[in-house]
Amino acid sequence: MKDKFFRDINYMRISVTNRCNMRCNYCMPNVVKNLCENEILTDDEIIETARAAVRCGIVKFKLTGGEPLLRPKIAEIIYKLKNISGVESVSMTTNGALLAENINELQKSGLDSVNISLDSLDIKRFEKITGFNLLDKVLDGIDAAISSGVHTKINTVLQKGINDDEWEKILLIAKENPVYVRFIELMPIGEGKNFWGISNEKILNDIRKKYQGVENDFSVHGNGPAVYIKIPGFLGGVGFISAMCGKFCSSCNRLRLTAQGKLKPCLSFADYLDVREILRSSEKNLIQAKLENLIKKAVELKPREHCFETPVKNSETLRMFEIGG
Ligand code: SAM
Ligand code: SF4
Repeated sequence: MKDKFFRDINYMRISVTNRCNMRCNYCMPNVVKNLCENEILTDDEIIETARAAVRCGIVKFKLTGGEPLLRPKIAEIIYKLKNISGVESVSMTTNGALLAENINELQKSGLDSVNISLDSLDIKRFEKITGFNLLDKVLDGIDAAISSGVHTKINTVLQKGINDDEWEKILLIAKENPVYVRFIELMPIGEGKNFWGISNEKILNDIRKKYQGVENDFSVHGNGPAVYIKIPGFLGGVGFISAMCGKFCSSCNRLRLTAQGKLKPCLSFADYLDVREILRSSEKNLIQAKLENLIKKAVELKPREHCFETPVKNSETLRMFEIGG
């Protein structure tokens, strides 16, 4: 479905939990109040919402969180999403710590691709950023995902003075493996307001200085506004998600559904439409039609662009682990 700026909105990120087994400094504070189970959308409610979304033109879903692998029966949710007629792909973004032990089941359930977050290859630094000594588990998860054949991407957020010197090492994963390494600019959302990111423009310049023959790669079409390059001799590719320096809003194609059922038209504004209210208070035979109306309304309400560069306008108070990234 097109929004009022003629963007095709065909992608929904679904957060399946607010819980996480890490505490990345720019995403989640150390102490958070756990939500009660009944505040979170049930498996059936997620599928019901996805069915309505597909009728509104959504064909791609990404499961996120918190950490989606902490959600019980996540493979079953993937299987059910994949079996909705019209769904083209179901992917997941995960911190990877529980991936090695789950990848086979996820693959069997139909998972098309996985994005694994990795901000450091140094054990101490990894622990400093994420709060946990889990780098080995994450690297096992990356290896398992690559070996499984599930399409794999690595997502890296660089922070000034913390891990900004690691792009070269992390990039090498894409040299040696058929994966995409993508640099995501730090966004001033929630905890992210307390840290300094690195401009992707700078990383791209540094890459061009180090490697000859870097070319734009227009053949890659992920779920959204990432732009890609190809470096000669690399098995994989490199991508940039430049929320800040690239202001990617003209190619925005998404809605976000939080674990509590808040349907968000845009990351940087607090506005949302309440899916859970409809699911729990409507007559059963009216739910699908009402959800469809709500989703269409969310698409209509999408603003032209985010306002990260004007913090006073940035009304969202939820933090990334509550939204799903
Ligand atoms: N736990 C999973 C993971 O880490 O991939 C999924 C949820 S996490 C919120 C999704 C993505 O959002 C991660 O790649 C994370 O690095 C990114 N993220 C979190 N806070 C961010 C921020 N302030 N700016 C940019 N990216 C952020
Ligand atoms: Fe957890 Fe992912 Fe946020 Fe890190 S980025 S705290 S792994 S939700």
